[in-house]
Amino acid sequence: MDTKVFRKISYGVYIVTSKAGDRINGQTANALMQVCSSPPLIAMAINKENLTHEFIKKSGVFTVSILSQDAPPRLIGRFGFKSGREVDKFDGMNYRLAANGCPILQEHTVGYLEGKVIKELDAETHTIFMGEVTEGQLLKDGEPMTYAYYHEVKRGTTPKTAPTYIETTQEEKKGENMKKYKCTVCGYIYDPSKGDPDGGIAPGTPFEKLPDDWTCPVCGATKDKFELEK
Ligand code: FE
Repeated sequence: MDTKVFRKISYGVYIVTSKAGDRINGQTANALMQVCSSPPLIAMAINKENLTHEFIKKSGVFTVSILSQDAPPRLIGRFGFKSGREVDKFDGMNYRLAANGCPILQEHTVGYLEGKVIKELDAETHTIFMGEVTEGQLLKDGEPMTYAYYHEVKRGTTPKTAPTYIETTQEEKKGENMKKYKCTVCGYIYDPSKGDPDGGIAPGTPFEKLPDDWTCPVCGATKDKFELEK
């Protein structure tokens, strides 16, 4: 089997949240789809090891924030590479609580769904939760983020043929000869020709010149967790 074929399946990028008592948590998810319009049902696969899984199991309620294309990798990484067991992912975030008590992001979110679990299916490492959507609203204009967009554009490997390709500037060209470094925690590659615009790093900045307190835009790892990409 050629597992690369799985990469041809399209996904969005979502922040699925839940609660347990007065605690809230959320995580990045991509395996989510609508399965029925009347009643409005969705299905989503959530890893059993995640705290959000534990919370959904306990409370039976959730929200889904549908991320916009402008969502920074830092946001996706915060919810995808950190555990709510160690950090409060909502600390300092702009969110509000839905009627069911689960948080909804108010930034970089084109819309949200609020719902309750009506069925679940054991799927090895994951549980597939089927949920009835009890409320849903659009929050702003813009395109939803797709998983492919996140990988191809946000991680800076856009092919020249792509409509989203941005021509490189002189500064960026200068960076093409510089070495790339890879985050050993999440796999993000720092490409000097791209810099880290969300982190205030201009294109053309070599890895060696990054400030000491610079961290991985995806998972937040410190500079010493990076190694030379060969
Ligand atoms: Fe990382």
